[in-house]
Amino acid sequence: MNEHNNETEPALKLVDIGANLASSAFQRDLPQVLERARAAGVTQLVVTGTSVAQSRAAQLLTVQYPNTLYSTAGIHPHDAADCTNDSLLVLRELAAKPAVKAIGECGLDFNRNIASEQQQITAFEVQIELAIELKMPLFLHERDAFKTQRDILAHYRDDLDDIVIHCFTGEKHQAFSYLDIDCHIGITGWICDPRRGYHLHDFVGDIPLNRLMIESDAPYLLPRVTPKLKLEKSGRNEPCTLPHVLKSIADHSGRSMGEVATQTRRNAINFFRLNQPTE
Ligand SMILES: [Zn+2]
Repeated sequence: MNEHNNETEPALKLVDIGANLASSAFQRDLPQVLERARAAGVTQLVVTGTSVAQSRAAQLLTVQYPNTLYSTAGIHPHDAADCTNDSLLVLRELAAKPAVKAIGECGLDFNRNIASEQQQITAFEVQIELAIELKMPLFLHERDAFKTQRDILAHYRDDLDDIVIHCFTGEKHQAFSYLDIDCHIGITGWICDPRRGYHLHDFVGDIPLNRLMIESDAPYLLPRVTPKLKLEKSGRNEPCTLPHVLKSIADHSGRSMGEVATQTRRNAINFFRLNQPTE
């Protein structure tokens, strides 16, 4: 997809800040998935921890692929009922590992309310407190819970390290409101989806480039582009599609792909305190 590519070294180097590689969807062929990612320029990836079990599995992957994979440790709002004292002990233990770089994915999801709103708020607040105590960044999910989530974050903001709203899908005023309390914004293939994400085109260029990061959210959110990606047959997204997210951001913000790639990668390395890449 990039005309400057030659076969060995892709011209653009990218960090995927949210890939669910501990998902069973990748159990069979993770080495090949990572090879395809690398060929597409995705040199470092942050594996999302969404539950105690997934956070542990994500951390184990970081040991298998040092300097390529990093991870987060957290409990997704859907699993908020599992956020017990015992779970927090495990998250704390995982967070002490060198390649675990953020607390999350946590936050609020009032779209499906799989856990009750009160359970979600409690689980969110204890994970915020953990991030404050450990001085770690927060990797956040939010769906149909903007006002409550923003108010809770604002309350804790001064004590918190960096925050990213992963897979941002909201409206312009919501993006700006998160930016007002100095959050970063993560953009996924949602921006390529004509049915759901085209409203992002109108303001993605207004998000300061030093607050923007990109993510595949694989195996979810395969970018809907034309011509259709071959991966569509597999029914799963992979980190190697990240250049499509990059291209959409570049196209709709009047910037070059190179500029967006360089800056979003720099943001990710600083935000998650990744090792400086050797190449
Ligand atoms: Zn999410």
